[in-house]
Amino acid sequence: MSPLLGLLLAASVDGQAALRHASALAALGPHPWGSPRNQAAAAYVAAQFREAGLDAVELAPFERHAVQGTNVIATLREPGEDFVVVAAHHDTAPEAPGAYDDGGGVGILIELARVLAQEGRRPRTIVFVSFDGEESWSTGKGTTAGSRAYIERLGPRARSLVAAFAIEMSGWKRGNPVLHPIAYADPHEKGRAVIAPAWLVRAALAGSREAGAALGVGDPWLSWLYQPAVRTFRVRLYGDDLSFLQAGHSALHASDSSFSAFYPDYHEPSDTADKLDPAALERMGRAALGVVRSLERVPRGSAREPHWFAAFGRVVSAPWLLVLGAASLLPGLWRGFRAGGPALGVRVVQALLAGLLLWRHPVPALWILLVPQLLLPLRRAWWTMLLSLLPALALVALGVSASWRGFVNGVWLAPWEMAVGFVALALAFLGFGGRGGRAPRKPKAPRKGRGR
Ligand SMILES: [Zn+2]
Repeated sequence: MSPLLGLLLAASVDGQAALRHASALAALGPHPWGSPRNQAAAAYVAAQFREAGLDAVELAPFERHAVQGTNVIATLREPGEDFVVVAAHHDTAPEAPGAYDDGGGVGILIELARVLAQEGRRPRTIVFVSFDGEESWSTGKGTTAGSRAYIERLGPRARSLVAAFAIEMSGWKRGNPVLHPIAYADPHEKGRAVIAPAWLVRAALAGSREAGAALGVGDPWLSWLYQPAVRTFRVRLYGDDLSFLQAGHSALHASDSSFSAFYPDYHEPSDTADKLDPAALERMGRAALGVVRSLERVPRGSAREPHWFAAFGRVVSAPWLLVLGAASLLPGLWRGFRAGGPALGVRVVQALLAGLLLWRHPVPALWILLVPQLLLPLRRAWWTMLLSLLPALALVALGVSASWRGFVNGVWLAPWEMAVGFVALALAFLGFGGRGGRAPRKPKAPRKGRGR
């Protein structure tokens, strides 16, 4: 190999190398948390981190729910306090060899370590962690045990954590790399959710785009619907970002499975290395490298920026969502003021209810109310009514089908909030006084022969 070729290979993620790591892990057979094969998996990852040239490689044992686990932690250390965690998990579901979940993710993680270790000084310390016990539900006790143990062990050092980025379920040929900002239960406030903050999603999108491997948000086809959906329905899927978000840190995971294309061998004995594709691993690897490069230089943001909407690779944050929501109320109120009387009353009540829902759940509220509030005051026809109903219908349809596929188990909105949303939507469809909400037509003048 020429020195130049060697340098070029070092600078980018090698899909074949990631596939070799995933294959080596899957060849162990199913290796769930606490099993002897799982120890072999941890040892393999540690050996690969050392080979990649990382400074400090550590097997970090922990015990939770009377099960022994081992996280593998390796560091590229820089002088500052701040650090970024990049992660995957080496344990599997009880019956699955886990080539895809999460052998592919670990393969990419090792490749990232190799590429970044060969570069010079970095803006921030990067900690590579292969977690154990991500699938700890299989013991029937808790979730994401390894990442929870890691955060506990950090203690006060956790304050210097900028963000955690986990690579999940990657390397499927038919997959599409996307970020998965899923809302998880807030352990401190019943009924509330935590989700990846706006700044982190923005930084991850920008980083992957700069790396020439732009990530989508949630789903390659249904991204706009995915975003209100995860804030409306309780999604049952998660990654190790769950532990970080629930502990009050900024975190996010990426995968190339999504609602519209979900890996068919998920958690099955058939999750074997022949299902993986080196080009798909390389695609996710390039995107992940871009995300890490972005996270090591982006200014730190707050973990509490839950309300945002991503479109066209950009992220709109909460203040603009509220401005948009308030502006969408104006056409209806204007029509109400012109009509006066009961029509005005209806418009004011509708605006108050919409405003309340917008304040509590901006993204789902905008999703169901923006189109009817903008469109119906201007034109009431069968097609504007249909268009105005479509977003709400699509949201309900996605929720029902996701629930049928076992991805969803409940809703985030309280019953009274759903009632407010329903009434606000129904009132948006009520007339504006006069016929059909349109200025009455002037009767046509009778034709007077030719000419004018
Ligand atoms: Zn997984």
